[in-house]
Amino acid sequence: MHNHTIATLRKMLDAKEISSVELTQHYLKRIHQYQSSLNAFITICDETAIAQAVEADQRIHQGNAQALTGIPLAQKDIFCTKGIKTSCGSKMLDNFIAPYESTVTEKFLQAGAVMLGKTNMDEFAMGSSNETSFYGAVKNPWDLSTVPGGSSGGSSAAVAAQLAPASTGTDTGGSIRQPAALTGICGIKPTYGAVSRYGMIAFASSLDQAGPMGKTAEDLAIVLNTMAGFDPKDSTSIERPKTDYTAQLNQPLKGLRIGVPKAFFTEQLDSNIAAVIQTALRLYESQGATIHDISLPHNDVATAAYYVIAPAECSSNLSRFDGVRYGYRCANPKNLLDLYQRSRSEGLGMEVKRRIMMGTYALSSNVYEACYLKAQKIRCLIRQDFLDAFETVDVIMGPTSPTTAFKIGERSKDPIAMYLSDMYTIAVNLAGLPGASIPAGFVNNMPVGLQIIGNYFDEARILNVAHQYQQLTDWHLQTPAAFK
Ligand code: GLN
Repeated sequence: MHNHTIATLRKMLDAKEISSVELTQHYLKRIHQYQSSLNAFITICDETAIAQAVEADQRIHQGNAQALTGIPLAQKDIFCTKGIKTSCGSKMLDNFIAPYESTVTEKFLQAGAVMLGKTNMDEFAMGSSNETSFYGAVKNPWDLSTVPGGSSGGSSAAVAAQLAPASTGTDTGGSIRQPAALTGICGIKPTYGAVSRYGMIAFASSLDQAGPMGKTAEDLAIVLNTMAGFDPKDSTSIERPKTDYTAQLNQPLKGLRIGVPKAFFTEQLDSNIAAVIQTALRLYESQGATIHDISLPHNDVATAAYYVIAPAECSSNLSRFDGVRYGYRCANPKNLLDLYQRSRSEGLGMEVKRRIMMGTYALSSNVYEACYLKAQKIRCLIRQDFLDAFETVDVIMGPTSPTTAFKIGERSKDPIAMYLSDMYTIAVNLAGLPGASIPAGFVNNMPVGLQIIGNYFDEARILNVAHQYQQLTDWHLQTPAAFK
């Protein structure tokens, strides 16, 4: 039952071969079975999930089913869910029950999807390995001694281990694509402004964007159809005609112009991964696509610029967690200052504090121009690099991550090594572009992701290009032996 895609499950539900309650029970059972080994969830929603499934089955019987009615999904614990704990992976919000629903989860509720639970994540989405979570590290289903990527590591592990047919993630610097790559699943970060950020706990507001994670490009298209769209409650949401992301999936690849940036094939890239990517490119070529060398001349400073801009925004966004309004409050504060200081120092983890300190520093008046302003200028140049590239190519391809999944603990003491995990994904966020990662092979039995970057609002083309690849390959159908 858990081997099926959403596209197949839809047919089975509509044909009454299976009910949403049966499906939901099956997934909940798997989630509980593997929770102690994977730690993919922070909250498991047994009761509400079954109640939603009962309602979905009624809707299906009445002939009112939409694409996701009765489909169980896992939601990253960054989306506020009314009445259900939303922790954002932090001790600070360990006791936080949101009084309102995020737009993304509201859309899933309206569509009749079932929420199986809230997935584990790096604290406040800061990390590339899921090790910064207050709830402990998540394990990669392909090798339990390795990380599932981050920050959406619970969501990626859940799909890879088939604990949910699809999940949601958020991507500020790579947090959908990198975990998708490291666990052998698909994920897409949409164009900035395509999916509402309302009720999605903010890390770096000018970069954060939510997207789906799943088994196939087709499933991503199906889930994105529900997630995306203009939201008057988010001032950065973009108003444009609704796209059907499934409509273009079957376009042939002939004539597709693929740009391959030299900047993505640096010495940091594992040569075996480079070989996997080259094989994928050859396959595209065999289908009539053409390959073009492009340069993204500022990609080498993207990570540095990001680690000024993202912490600067985070230092501002996280100032709301002060022990007064939300979440954790220290015991017996002596006075107001003591309340602020101890609530924050006890409630926030090391990486989050590091970011707040870096960001506060970058914004301080004596270094503002040299740090923050400079980073913003670099950001403009990076955006321009992409715009120049898209003058001559339709999509850009390369590796998602320089390495396959690394060992738990391997980079947690070395922030720079951790930050460089996103060296091929970060520029896409700085430019606000859409980008996906799909499975393209294995190196030493660990999955490798192919990154596909598109022009603004060209998600449908990215998904088309990914879907066509999946008609010719079966990397996306591989599942880890222990979770078959
Ligand atoms: N790994 C990057 C960071 O730690 C990106 C995280 C994300 O995309 N949420 O900031």
